[in-house]
Amino acid sequence: MVTSIEPTVGTERKVVTALPGPKSQEIHARRKGAVSAGVTVGFPVYIDRAQGAIIVDVDGNHILDMGSGIAVTTIGHAVPELIQAVSEQVAQFTHTCFMVTPYESYVQVCEELNALTPGTHEKRTALFNSGAEAVENAVKIARHATGREAIVVFEHAYHGRTNLTMALTSKNMPYKDGFGPFAPEVYRVPMSYPFQDGRSGAEAAAHAIKQIESQVGAKNVAAVLIEPIQGEGGFVVPAEGFLPALSKWTSEQGIVFIADEIQSGFGRTGKWFAVDHEGVVPDMVTTAKGLAGGMPLAGVTGRAELMNAVHEGGLGGTYGGNPVTAVAALASINFMRDRNLLARAAELETIIGSNLRSLAQDVTIIGEVRGRGAMMAMELVEPGTKNPNAAAAKAIVKYCNDHGVIALACGTYGNVIRLLPPLVITDAQLADGLAVLGEAVRAAN
Ligand SMILES: *Cc1c(COP(=O)(O)O)cnc(C)c1O
Repeated sequence: MVTSIEPTVGTERKVVTALPGPKSQEIHARRKGAVSAGVTVGFPVYIDRAQGAIIVDVDGNHILDMGSGIAVTTIGHAVPELIQAVSEQVAQFTHTCFMVTPYESYVQVCEELNALTPGTHEKRTALFNSGAEAVENAVKIARHATGREAIVVFEHAYHGRTNLTMALTSKNMPYKDGFGPFAPEVYRVPMSYPFQDGRSGAEAAAHAIKQIESQVGAKNVAAVLIEPIQGEGGFVVPAEGFLPALSKWTSEQGIVFIADEIQSGFGRTGKWFAVDHEGVVPDMVTTAKGLAGGMPLAGVTGRAELMNAVHEGGLGGTYGGNPVTAVAALASINFMRDRNLLARAAELETIIGSNLRSLAQDVTIIGEVRGRGAMMAMELVEPGTKNPNAAAAKAIVKYCNDHGVIALACGTYGNVIRLLPPLVITDAQLADGLAVLGEAVRAAN
């Protein structure tokens, strides 16, 4: 049934045209006449196929993927086990709606999420289509379970593009500008951002808690929602102790602690979840991106008493936990276990971290190298300051793209370069990508 799972793509970056090539340019011109201008594209090479960490465009360029479609294809492209599982499922049935007539794979994904997320307490899970939808549902559940309304979020946070999640997201351009009015009862407090605020984790937590207490009142807060490592906001890793202090305070106050692990979760940082690095046990965890090897699936996993507090029929959706996406998640989770990809993520941290840190010695524009596992970044600054240098980030991304490497920028000020390679990237591929990145940084310095 599966036509080909043999290697067809090769393992090396190979640029054969100027990028984007002529065929990509032709499609891109059509795109402008067909696709909303609101949907932009970073690197307009049109993709034909992909395998492992290599993406092949319609002009035959072999591009090295250091972004995984924004932390989604953590297991790499075209994993045979995933192709097999998805192909078989498509042939069996593509949809029944879990709320109409259910199927086992949905239950299995929930069992896996209940087991993999932090804590040994009784848990339940509900499945959705996208990260934003998972976050919205986590907020719905927290409000319903606590009978409170306020939601506390953090500076630089990103939680999605729907109305509620725009309100939860920090950055105006491009996510929010002109799209209001936004959902009410959302309060933003400072994130622990060691490079910029110089505070210890305990100090930063005390500072945030003081603001919540004085401006919102703990007894009004349904949930504190936080990315344990911020994604779009700049790969901000909070100071040690910040997350444990927040988690402790929320549990004392009857506030639901929601970890948005949509970008940082699912093995990306070398543990299943980024909160695992500090032993924090959230009341609820949202997952999406790396969960299902590129298929659109998201989850909310939480304490059974919270997840079950909602009235019957209060949660759901037409496609949530679609069978094709569910078997993809199961195949992806098994693949990660079989290949020991969590350990690989930790190895990638060592390789990327030491490479970028030695690069930082030679140039003046790298303010900080940070991250965990295969979620690494460098914050670019104007030399001798901590002021953001977005122009350098832009130039670096462009240089990488011109040389057939996908690198992504992020950060409230657009001055952070983030690396999110698939965990199956080989040492040789990674060395090649880091060499191009190094040239790019030197050229921008
Ligand atoms: C991407 C992301 C979301 C939104 O996910 P979508 O699937 O794009 O809706 C929410 N939270 C975090 C932390 C994310 O990185």
